[in-house]
Amino acid sequence: MSKRFQAPRGTFDILPAEAERREATYLVAAELFARAGYGRLETPAFEDTELFARGVGEGTDIVHKEMFTFTDQGDRSLTLRPEATAAICRAYIEHGMHRLPQPVKVWSWGPYFRHERPQAGRYRQFHQLDAEVIGSDSPLVDAELIMLLDDLLRGLGVPGLRLRLSSLGTPASRAAYREELRAYLRAREGKLAPEVRERISENPLRAFDSKDQATREVMGEAPLMVERLDQPDAEHFAEVRSLLDQAGVPYVLDGTLVRGLDYYTRTVFEFESEALDAQAATLGGGGRYDGLVEAIGGPATPGCGWAAGIERILLALDAPEPEPLADVFVAAPSEQGARAFALVQELRGAGLRAELDLAGRSLKGQMKQADRLGARRAVILDDEGKAEVRDMTSGEQEELDLARAVEALSR
Ligand code: AMP
Repeated sequence: MSKRFQAPRGTFDILPAEAERREATYLVAAELFARAGYGRLETPAFEDTELFARGVGEGTDIVHKEMFTFTDQGDRSLTLRPEATAAICRAYIEHGMHRLPQPVKVWSWGPYFRHERPQAGRYRQFHQLDAEVIGSDSPLVDAELIMLLDDLLRGLGVPGLRLRLSSLGTPASRAAYREELRAYLRAREGKLAPEVRERISENPLRAFDSKDQATREVMGEAPLMVERLDQPDAEHFAEVRSLLDQAGVPYVLDGTLVRGLDYYTRTVFEFESEALDAQAATLGGGGRYDGLVEAIGGPATPGCGWAAGIERILLALDAPEPEPLADVFVAAPSEQGARAFALVQELRGAGLRAELDLAGRSLKGQMKQADRLGARRAVILDDEGKAEVRDMTSGEQEELDLARAVEALSR
């Protein structure tokens, strides 16, 4: 027997019913972004490996162990994009977008790749909806972005939403805080999980993400970055919170929120849903990255953005009733197949969802198929070139003037 293939580990096929739910989500997002003045920007599915190493950060889990990296025929190291922001900043620089009126507001939708251990809501190829605002450090931008994601998730009806919010300050204040945290962790090294202990020098902030009980107890008492903000950072954060308060957006202030990427400065946030497993409960998150554009070779430019996981959003939502697939089913004995085909084309041309039998069914079988497709009406062609139309709900049937079929069936 020959090998039976399966989709690669951590990937999945999107079947038609699922595709429809995605499309509906996409349309809600597109409408929201259009109203808020965001343009669509799409970058390639892979980039120079170094862009992510420098942009996302060498010390992060993503760069450290989750990237799909390969060498191409020209001996270049390329990586399937694990996230959107670094690539969008690369595009901003490459196309001289700093010369446009600032800020530049963009959104994107597409596949991303991370070599993670697969589980519900965690895949190796997943999809993100992404929003970025580059070229303004105004707290209005942070608030607008957070409110857009809040609007989207509420508009879609995601249950049990929770927004966590914090500020990570600027690189200088964070460096001082990191030293303080390192000293705190070193003094308690014996109580920390080995993987946390190993990374005290490299990335002490990640200790806040540990699931280890003893480590969590240590972290419960640890100094927090939000308590160490410089005056301008503290004012910026207070302004963001005040804008959210005025808009009535509920959030929880959470000084343990660090996010898994190095480039964040000032505001960071995450939306979770109680409907999801704790292991993969985050629907989306983001924050400000005022040093990123410069770090990857552009002019010093502030930025802020978020990414939301499409699969997570759909997991958190109940699957809706399937939509009917057809308005009209055209049934005919097999000798009249060509006439049925022509009528279906005519009806589709007029904007109706029309179907016909493609499997050699008997007339009775065709009526069953019409039912399965949820068609409201069936047209039944006979051998004499006449036609009747049946209301599939009431079963009522009457003659149909084929010359005026579109008009009659559009009602
Ligand atoms: P991140 O860039 O890690 O903040 O991810 C943003 C969002 O993308 C997360 O909140 C998730 O909803 C989603 N996401 C991240 N990684 C995965 C994954 N491996 N599988 C599915 N969704 C993911």
